[in-house]
Amino acid sequence: KEAAAQQERLELDRKEQRARIHPEDPPRYVQEPCGSDGQEGQKYAVEGYLGAGGFAKCWQAELRDSRTRRTGERVALKVVRADMGSKKMREKFRSELQVHSKMHHPNIVDFHRSFTFKNNTYVVLELCENRSLMEMVKARKYLTGPEIRVFTIQTAGAIKYMHLKNVIHRDLKMGNIFLDSNMNIKVGDFGLAALLYSPEGRRTTICGTPNYIAPEILEKGKNGHNFEVDLYAMLVGTPPFQANTQEDIYKKVRLRDYGWPPEEKRFIADEAKDLVASLLVEAGNRLTPDDIVEHDFISKGCFLDEILPEYRHCAPELP
Ligand code: ADP
Repeated sequence: KEAAAQQERLELDRKEQRARIHPEDPPRYVQEPCGSDGQEGQKYAVEGYLGAGGFAKCWQAELRDSRTRRTGERVALKVVRADMGSKKMREKFRSELQVHSKMHHPNIVDFHRSFTFKNNTYVVLELCENRSLMEMVKARKYLTGPEIRVFTIQTAGAIKYMHLKNVIHRDLKMGNIFLDSNMNIKVGDFGLAALLYSPEGRRTTICGTPNYIAPEILEKGKNGHNFEVDLYAMLVGTPPFQANTQEDIYKKVRLRDYGWPPEEKRFIADEAKDLVASLLVEAGNRLTPDDIVEHDFISKGCFLDEILPEYRHCAPELP
């Protein structure tokens, strides 16, 4: 009885916490305030709910013209409370927006603008209609080589661009790799991204106030094997390192203790296994995005002309 009461209190606490963290639902129409030039802001008609993250909730919205007529142009609205979390969290969010707004690449979620309306901050992003790679791999269990090749090349292109701009994403996992209406990869969620300093100690590509990163966040990205682990998961359908406790998982990660399913169960090309092995090495020795694209598994395998949205649920028929 005591345990049940405690459980109930915990549940209530969690609910209250969520209500405090998450923003209020937006109204039917969201109006961006006038710009400093006096020009009227954009108007958005809020449509379907897309999902919630740590602090944010996302909605799909349609842009309306100055007379509230439909334009057919759709965006994603990421909404957070204007007074969210601690000062540190707000700083972090500002830095996420600052970094993301400087990224312009066909395989990165486009950042349109951000503004505050009533009690919420709105971030207007390119809409990714086909959700993320995480949902696709969950539904499909694993993907085919030709699909993985296309997705890997596009993701490598986005990574190369970010590195050119001195940005490291540090949270590159399937849940943050979105798919647009044409099933193109769009890397999103720059919540853990950091700006690197150039060898002379100056930040070269992006200007603005320096962004201060909490040590635990730096730590989190330090040995990150996110994309590498996901490549394995796309091929096999399960993560490479599995154990009952977090500690045992870390141990396996450190020892690179992973295996492959028996061949009669799932055939995985040797080239694919070799690519995974060369990615799961210490940070300093990892392949660059160019190396990945030039690897035999990617460059010598067959491709699909196009990836159709229906492949999210059922595998393509391969020649
Ligand atoms: P998280 O905190 O988990 O990274 P976000 O706050 O960025 O999540 O987003 C919450 C949800 O909204 C995610 O689960 C994702 O499915 C959806 N989402 C985020 N950005 C977009 C987008 N640009 N297009 C479509 N859906 C999105």
